[in-house]
Amino acid sequence: MEFGWTTEQLQYRARVRAALDELLPDDWDETYVPESYASDLQIEFSREFCAKLAERGLLVPHWPVEYGGCGQPDWDHFILGEEMKAAGEPRGPQYMNVNWIGPTLMRYGTEAQKAQHVKGIASGKVIWCQGFSEPNAGTDLAALRTRAERTGDHYVINGSKIWTSYARKADWCFLLARTGASRKDISIFLLPMDSPGISVTSFPGLIKPGHLNEVFFTDVEVPVENRVGEEGQAWEIITHALSYERVGVPRYHVGLEALKLAIEQLKAEGRYDDPIIRSRAGMIAAKFEGARMLTYLVVDQRVKRMPPSTDANLSRIWSLDAVAELMNFLVEFVPDCLAGGDKLLEDYYRINIPAGVTGGTNEIQLDLVAQRGLGLPRGA
Ligand SMILES: Cc1cc2nc3c(=O)[nH]c(=O)nc-3n(C[C@H](O)[C@H](O)[C@H](O)COP(=O)(O)OP(=O)(O)OC[C@H]3O[C@@H](n4cnc5c(N)ncnc54)[C@H](O)[C@@H]3O)c2cc1C
Repeated sequence: MEFGWTTEQLQYRARVRAALDELLPDDWDETYVPESYASDLQIEFSREFCAKLAERGLLVPHWPVEYGGCGQPDWDHFILGEEMKAAGEPRGPQYMNVNWIGPTLMRYGTEAQKAQHVKGIASGKVIWCQGFSEPNAGTDLAALRTRAERTGDHYVINGSKIWTSYARKADWCFLLARTGASRKDISIFLLPMDSPGISVTSFPGLIKPGHLNEVFFTDVEVPVENRVGEEGQAWEIITHALSYERVGVPRYHVGLEALKLAIEQLKAEGRYDDPIIRSRAGMIAAKFEGARMLTYLVVDQRVKRMPPSTDANLSRIWSLDAVAELMNFLVEFVPDCLAGGDKLLEDYYRINIPAGVTGGTNEIQLDLVAQRGLGLPRGA
């Protein structure tokens, strides 16, 4: 197995770094990074920034040319993701568009949906939100109650969603709604967020301000042609979509940087000679490296057009485990950094508080590996 990067990949990484140097404002670290990437400031910034990336062929380099991409290997998209994450993810919410919304529409969308939305995403100017979770339907998505009733050539949506990141500024929602009586009768709709009958309210949480929203739908009309796939096909579609999301965020990249900052702090305080601290730091670094390798394995499988496997879940579990250990390390050994001490470490901590919950909890990833990967029976 070859673990090194090719000359072309190194050149590509250098090109991405040069674009970041050129496109990020001088006050990026001071003004933008301390805000959540779901804040209004960052969401609006992403429209401008992603449009410029798109002009340079650096937003969706791996997409086919007919959809606005450059037909480059998936590895290039991945290198791009690592560099963006290391820079504080200036694509903001649009990392989601390029990771899974666009690819899902390429596979399951109608020609009209592809023409409108996939190309829209490739332009870097469109913001999406993901309307899946509800107050009593997070992990158990099949319990969702938002309904879409068909009336002639459109559906009428009623219900509510919770935790919907970016909803305040999103142009479109990738919405799950119930279209029949059974638990599996759920369908996907592409819903313009300026449709009459939609209201969004934000609520505070431990993570940075601006992240958490509730969305309410009252008799919202959506045309039949905005349904993705057939009625009741949502499960198949989101299973495919979320296999992209599992390795969408290269957490090891920023994790290792945060660990370095903590070690610098400990050295400055003369505490890094403590063998317990050193061994804990070493274990965390090794875990992040393990997470990197597992993530690369999944990307390699994708490049080879192999079907999604539970390796993606494993990769996510391993990454999140490393993140959790680092957060415990910070609390135990450099707690002063977290309360207005070191901005970047505090930032890292806050943004990762929900890491084991968003995009499917760790327990569920473990269940999926047990059942689908190891063939174990479902628990009671
Ligand atoms: C910051 C943040 C941003 C988010 N953004 C979005 C978004 O943009 N769009 C969106 O749709 N959702 C979003 N979510 C919601 C997220 O997907 C859900 O929080 C997640 O799916 C868990 O659902 P829940 O909160 O209802 O917890 P629950 O499902 O109630 O889970 C609570 C606990 O019980 C465990 N548990 C539940 N069922 C099982 C089981 N069968 N086996 C073992 N353990 C189980 C879970 O692992 C968890 O530890 C976001 C959440 C957060 C925190």
